This record gives sequence, C-alpha cells and structure tokens, in this order.
Amino acid sequence: MSMRRRTLLKVIVLGDSGVGKTSLMNQYVHNKFSQQYKATIGADFVTKELQIDDRLVTLQIWDTAGQERFQSLGVAFYRGADCCVLVYDVNVMKSFDTLDIWHEEFLKQANPADPKRFPFILLGNKIDIDGGNSRVVSEKKAKDWCASKGKIPYFETSAKEDYNVDAAFLCIAQTALANEREQDIYFQGIPEAVSETEQTGGCAC
Ligand code: GDP
Ligand code: MG
Repeated sequence: MSMRRRTLLKVIVLGDSGVGKTSLMNQYVHNKFSQQYKATIGADFVTKELQIDDRLVTLQIWDTAGQERFQSLGVAFYRGADCCVLVYDVNVMKSFDTLDIWHEEFLKQANPADPKRFPFILLGNKIDIDGGNSRVVSEKKAKDWCASKGKIPYFETSAKEDYNVDAAFLCIAQTALANEREQDIYFQGIPEAVSETEQTGGCAC
C-alpha cells in the first residue's frame, strides 16, 4: 500500500529588526524584493511546498510580526519548531552581537527535547551592499560563531539580488526534515491510530 504523507515543517526566523528577515522570506516564497521598509504586521507565516527526495514537504515559515524584542513573541510562536533560522546584517555589528541572545532566547522559549542538537541555521544577509565594502562582520567571524554553537550551517545571502536564498532555504528544509525524522524515531513506540476508511480510501457513507 502506498501512502503519500505530506510533512509540515515549522521554521522560525529570528534576528534584529531591519536585517532582512521578511525580505528573505518574500524573495524565497514570492520572488519579490521591495526596497521600502515596512515593519512586519499581519500574517504570522508563509508557506512553500517543495519536494525533498520522495517527500512532499510544506515549509511553514514564521516571521516576527514587528515584535523583535526578546520575550515578546509568546510560547505559541515557538511551539513545535523544527528549525530556527537566525539572521544578521553583515554590515551591522550589533545585529551580529545579538545572535547570542536570540539563540539563547529561542532555546529558552521553545524548550526542545535536546537543546544541544536542535537545528539552527545562520544567514548573513545584505552582502550586496556597497559591493561588500561596508561589511563589518567577516565570513570567518561568522563561521567561528557557528562552530562555537555546534556546527551551525552558514550562508551569506542577498534578498535584494536573490543570492543564495534558495540554497539557504533548501538547507533549512533538509535540516528541519532530518530533525523531524529523528523525532519520528523517538516516538515510534507510540502506535498511530489510522481508521479503516482512511486506509482504503473508501467513503464512510
Ligand atoms: P526585517 O525587519 O528583518 O524583516 O527586515 P526587512 O526585510 O523589512 O528589511 C529591512 C530593509 O532592508 C528593507 O528596506 C529592505 O528593502 C532592506 N533589505 C533587506 N534585505 C536586503 C538585502 O539583501 N540587500 C539590501 N541592499 N537591502 C536589503
Ligand atoms: Mg520584518
């Protein structure tokens, strides 16, 4: 019997205000970029479907609704996350310095079963600005930070130029899926209730 299972993966994007979180999501999901700055309000998440190996995956990407302050997002925002994406602006040192706090804050709020192995990904955004001449955080510094937190994958991106955005989100999806599989294994002792009707595809009436 073949059963097509759609997997929903919850991804949370965190980082200082203005680093380009919403722009990266817009570029990835809608292939659009806007120069205009608009604080994010309204919709909490966007979705994108993609196929990874034989699995149909729906990425549910959660954006901070203009509340980039620690402890203001609430537990529901973090609950059930499969991957956390941290974003900073390579041209703004403060946005890099706050990564420690975002990392810590995520672990505190989401409270994952195994914090040391919970998947994070770091994106250094806006590498297009001034042809890279105004960047203040080197690639090495960013990679060192990733290594210190336990081999976090790192991508340098430009939401404006659509550079590395697809590659970064593919890695995010793969990492989240791998984490989800581990949880499946962890929970495999619990029997799944599947009704007879669903299994045969028949109609109940
Ligand atoms: P958020 O507060 O983290 O969601 O940041 P936004 O996505 O709203 O972006 C803040 C500002 O930076 C906006 O004016 C964007 O147009 C701009 N921006 C975002 N990403 C890039 C990028 O990769 N390159 C450049 N040059 N500007 C960007
Ligand atoms: Mg935003």
